[in-house]
Amino acid sequence: QSTVPLPGTTRVFTISNQKGGVGKTTTTVNIAAALAKSGARVLVIDLDPQGNASTALGVDHHAEIPSVYDVLIDEFPLAEVIQKSPEFDTLFCAPSTIHLAGAEIELVSQVAREHRLRTALEQFIADAEDPFHYVFIDCPPSLGLLTINAFVAAKEVLIPIQAEYYALEGLSQLLNSIQLIQKHLNPPLRLSTILLTMFDGRTNLAHQVADDVRAHFPVEVLNTVIPRAVRISEAPSFGQTVITHDPSGVGSISYLEAAAEIAARHAKSAKTHSNTATLTE
Ligand code: ADP
Ligand code: MG
Repeated sequence: QSTVPLPGTTRVFTISNQKGGVGKTTTTVNIAAALAKSGARVLVIDLDPQGNASTALGVDHHAEIPSVYDVLIDEFPLAEVIQKSPEFDTLFCAPSTIHLAGAEIELVSQVAREHRLRTALEQFIADAEDPFHYVFIDCPPSLGLLTINAFVAAKEVLIPIQAEYYALEGLSQLLNSIQLIQKHLNPPLRLSTILLTMFDGRTNLAHQVADDVRAHFPVEVLNTVIPRAVRISEAPSFGQTVITHDPSGVGSISYLEAAAEIAARHAKSAKTHSNTATLTE
């Protein structure tokens, strides 16, 4: 039983922002855990050599573990590297290992170097006995080949924006990159979701930044904002997401609400689209 509407086909998100420390990994693992807790089957692909998402999901990722590196470079099936997270029965992770740091260079000389993750993911989705509802790809803070692989494999982009000064700076570069990917590699890709993170409601600046971002992206920004909260930042040191670390705290509640919004908005637009289709037939 799910407490959120489940999509009919797998929704594949890349969580991107070429700035480091804006909450990409935190958002990836907590939205994923929130959706898994709500009854969805969810896969997180850790594409950051740092492996922070793997750590937060309590998944082994020492150097000898089969990882996304083997998928990208040696064409291992994704199914062979995926581990179940101890967090929830429907939450899975394709871990990153330190080897992934070299993949950025090794990919340069590979055939179909931008499409490697997409090919592996399509195969995995087609073969999965129990279908996955969501895939979230956590990207490193750069626009190299790993991030490009994520953009090509995804259908939707989720941008976490830190509600602080300079929030919008660098965003136009990210939007340009998305446009280039749409044009040359993955036309259906769309920026579907923006989430304001590390929001400190006591400062005027945070409200100003939030208003600014909403003015630029009235449709994409979720109503829910993620507050700055110690429980959110300490959860990974317990090998947990905040959803299990502090289930009734503000961090957990805000990520559950953001996840519910992501699910509900899609269900609503899917309905609108199918209505439109019937009307014009
Ligand atoms: P990125 O993946 O973009 O580099 P992270 O998700 O690792 O960013 O977050 C950067 C730092 O900020 C981490 O130490 C993380 O624990 C902390 N952090 C993220 N979101 C919050 C939040 N809402 N409240 C407090 N700390 C946060
Ligand atoms: Mg990160």
